[in-house]
Amino acid sequence: MLPRCWIPAVLIFSLLLGCARFPFPPPQPEMTVPLYQETALGEEAYREILKHEQLSQDPQLLKILNRVGGQLAAVSAMPHLNWEFALIESNERNAFALPGGKVAVTTGILPVCANEAGLAAVMSHQIAHVVARHGTERLSRSFHNSGRGAAIPAGFSNSRNKNEIMTALGVGRDRSMPFSQRHEFEADDLGMNLMVQAGYDPMETVRFWSRINQMKRGSRVPEMLFIHPIDARRLEDLRRLLPKANRAYQANPLKHGLGRSILYLLSRRQLMPKSNPLSPPPARPSSETAPAPGTPFNP
Ligand SMILES: [Zn+2]
Repeated sequence: MLPRCWIPAVLIFSLLLGCARFPFPPPQPEMTVPLYQETALGEEAYREILKHEQLSQDPQLLKILNRVGGQLAAVSAMPHLNWEFALIESNERNAFALPGGKVAVTTGILPVCANEAGLAAVMSHQIAHVVARHGTERLSRSFHNSGRGAAIPAGFSNSRNKNEIMTALGVGRDRSMPFSQRHEFEADDLGMNLMVQAGYDPMETVRFWSRINQMKRGSRVPEMLFIHPIDARRLEDLRRLLPKANRAYQANPLKHGLGRSILYLLSRRQLMPKSNPLSPPPARPSSETAPAPGTPFNP
């Protein structure tokens, strides 16, 4: 136990450390939003988005999406939400999650995921935002800052109100409101824990975010990074979380490693004749064997 005279010094040091990581954190508006209300709002936003999108019908990709999402949600602190996972056909490299357990991933981000564990890295981060209720906190803050109190509306009442809600939830056309450093760190920390508990190699989290970080240098910044920004410091924070996550992963008897290769599935999908989607895929070369689910796989 610390001597009494040390306690104020430790508190001050902790505060300074907190300020160094998240400079000048604004005061938190009181969260007065009941879970059922944020669930209803998340559901409304999710349906609104999906009605303008084309959803993938690829059975193998959907199977992986639902398996990964289902496993992560099951080990989260909110396993009983009505979790839904959608795969949107889009060249955007994006993913989002909404209060109440609605998660969507675009087909454009799948090559960056590369494998099942990479997809788990994306989805665990999104699921962590839901479980930590970050979207609702942003919404409360947005209403609080505009003088309307921290209570959020029950639904979309007009287009202005809808835009404000969608932007605060990180799914609006306006992408100028990224998650804060604190939210990103919490989602990374919690997300890596979910990865480990679900049996995926946590190292793939660092690899995935490194891959997508490098894409910022290309001609088009991946859309997900507008809302979930990444930089050298966040990558360093992720690496710092690894030793603990690796120890927990080694202790977990459930291990999928990297899981199935998504790159392999995508390459096979491109070879499918578009005129007849039910045609059998081309024979797999004898030297290449797709791993069974749950088998570590290096693409
Ligand atoms: Zn995030």
